[in-house]
Amino acid sequence: MQRLVVIGAGTAGTMVVNKLRPVLGDWHITIVDPATEHHYQPGYLFVPFGTYQPNEVVKKTTEFIPEGVEFRNVAVERVESAANTVHLADGSTLEYDQLVVATGTHPAPEETPGLDGPAMGKTVHHFYSLEAATALADALGGFTGGKLVVNLIDLPIKCPVAPLEFTFLAESFFHERGIRDDVEITYVTPLEGAFTKPVASRTLGGLLQSKGIEVEPDFYLERVDGDEGKLWSYDEREVDFDLLVTVPLNFGAGFLADSDLPIDELRHIKVDHGNFLVDGTENVFAVGDAANLPTSKAGSVAHFAIDVFTENFVEHISGRPMHEAFDGHANCYIESGHGKALLIDFNYDTQPLPGKFPLPGVGPFSLLEETEMNHVGKMMFKWMYWNILLRGKDLPVSSAMTLAGKVTEGA
Ligand SMILES: Cc1cc2nc3c(=O)[nH]c(=O)nc-3n(C[C@H](O)[C@H](O)[C@H](O)COP(=O)(O)OP(=O)(O)OC[C@H]3O[C@@H](n4cnc5c(N)ncnc54)[C@H](O)[C@@H]3O)c2cc1C
Repeated sequence: MQRLVVIGAGTAGTMVVNKLRPVLGDWHITIVDPATEHHYQPGYLFVPFGTYQPNEVVKKTTEFIPEGVEFRNVAVERVESAANTVHLADGSTLEYDQLVVATGTHPAPEETPGLDGPAMGKTVHHFYSLEAATALADALGGFTGGKLVVNLIDLPIKCPVAPLEFTFLAESFFHERGIRDDVEITYVTPLEGAFTKPVASRTLGGLLQSKGIEVEPDFYLERVDGDEGKLWSYDEREVDFDLLVTVPLNFGAGFLADSDLPIDELRHIKVDHGNFLVDGTENVFAVGDAANLPTSKAGSVAHFAIDVFTENFVEHISGRPMHEAFDGHANCYIESGHGKALLIDFNYDTQPLPGKFPLPGVGPFSLLEETEMNHVGKMMFKWMYWNILLRGKDLPVSSAMTLAGKVTEGA
């Protein structure tokens, strides 16, 4: 009997086993993860504002593992691809014919000097874990005015628009509480503008300006002093804060440093960007945030990518060439506060452009434009995540990006 091992039962790993179980006949499939809870991570953004309570973004991991897939509730300690073996923390091993690594990327505040000090959880916060987002809810609840700094340390991070969304939602939250005039909001970023891609950066930069939010661009964070309430850049610029909300550097899983798979300096696995085969291997794939794909690290990307992966994987194990090539398709709602959101849709080659989505000329969603309907789309995503995406069901949206409905003139 052939054996498939999937490491990580988060968004990508769960989708992989749900897609592959029905098509892999008598293969033995094992999925390994030390977590017993599956978190809807996009929900972390809303916890600080009380829109979601922590228990609304958590379900049991096993609820989404299909029948006929063995779940091993233990951490992986090392992959030895030269021997087709996965070493587990309980001392046992798993041998495989095919391996899929889907262990994501995770915030590492300890990697930035001063960030993980005594002020963490008091005046210094992030929202990239449920625990951190919950502590931030308390801090925001007690914040009556002063300097709020929202900071992006560096890319890649999962959901690269999340720090911008947090900034917009904070502006809206203070407005609703009647203290907007008492809060100075600054967005501190290493980028030269609000976002990486020019058209989106112009639109999002304009929105920040219209909401009275200062931008401190080209700021490469060197260290943080939580007691003094200061951020320093490598070129010795200083920014003061009363409350700091940052996004720590994101790193791939720790066990990858002890494994024989090729990784970059942030422990993301080097793969073929079209078919996810790990460099230098014939039977190891890395999907989701764990892979070093030059597109956003996002659940939507994992969803589109795994459609392509599934087709290719079936060809691959039958000894045929993998015909499908992933185009880097990403689709992200961007909350902008006051009950509105924007939507961006792009891939490796095409930057986010204005237009309508998914039906050209009709929508109902609008690209790069603030609308209430886009906000409805963002809030519907939680239901779609639990009920459609994770369970490996199809959406009526093509996994490849299309230019239909997009305005390309002047881009
Ligand atoms: C604040 C925030 C907002 C976001 N908003 C959006 C959004 O609006 N839209 C969107 O599309 N995406 C969003 N995302 C990103 C999305 O959640 C991730 O891109 C997605 O979850 C990636 O899936 P993954 O399977 O690669 O990683 P994960 O879902 O993180 O899963 C990784 C799994 O690997 C497991 N693992 C780790 N180490 C080991 C080990 N040693 N052994 C075994 N298992 C291990 C973990 O326990 C985990 O279950 C957001 C993320 C955050 C943090």
